[in-house]
Amino acid sequence: MQLKLWGWRPALAQTIGLVLMFSPVAALAVASGTTPQGPTGQSPVARLIKAVNARTRLPAPMVSKTVWNGLDVDGDGASDFVNPTGQAPRLLDAFGYGEFGASRDGGSRQHEGVDYTADADQAVAAPISGFVTKIGYAYGGDDSLRFVEITNPALGYVARAFYVDPDVLVGQAVRLGETIGTVASLQSHYPGITDHVHLEVMKSGERLNAETLIVARTIKVKARTANG
Ligand SMILES: [Zn+2]
Repeated sequence: MQLKLWGWRPALAQTIGLVLMFSPVAALAVASGTTPQGPTGQSPVARLIKAVNARTRLPAPMVSKTVWNGLDVDGDGASDFVNPTGQAPRLLDAFGYGEFGASRDGGSRQHEGVDYTADADQAVAAPISGFVTKIGYAYGGDDSLRFVEITNPALGYVARAFYVDPDVLVGQAVRLGETIGTVASLQSHYPGITDHVHLEVMKSGERLNAETLIVARTIKVKARTANG
């Protein structure tokens, strides 16, 4: 009886009938030929889809990220040191370790700075605030590799960032983290070495381990998704 009534597509017709029966809003929409807008300006269907999506959305995956915390040596509540490249200290390569005190020249001397891994041409951040007190050459006979020395008279620290093409001049004031130049590639001087900024920090004439002033901390952050 019903089959004859609904004609030749009974299943589809029944489905439409059921939807109209159980959804007065949808029925209204079909009847009026418009899609009614809810108080939020979204159609009921859009709101339904949104609600279902919200319930089925998986928690964003978390990933580990390293951040660098500069010590606050004057107690003003702000860091006084910044990682010049934002990257980790260089590990072992054919030229040795990049850490402070690492063996050099077969043990006859020690590494007097910390090598922060870098990409050639990336920006170099001022490791301390202060004045540019010197721009010099890292090696005699090679004028492609320079260092920038910054002195902070108030704190009593001096920092030298090596292998930097400077964007600053001697006498210039620089703020902590401000770009002081770009990373010079070391490949012509040390073929195969991990490019880096060699950072030396001194206080009262004594060389300090920059890794005790710029401390690595691992945090968990939401992984980036395709949707941003
Ligand atoms: Zn070094």
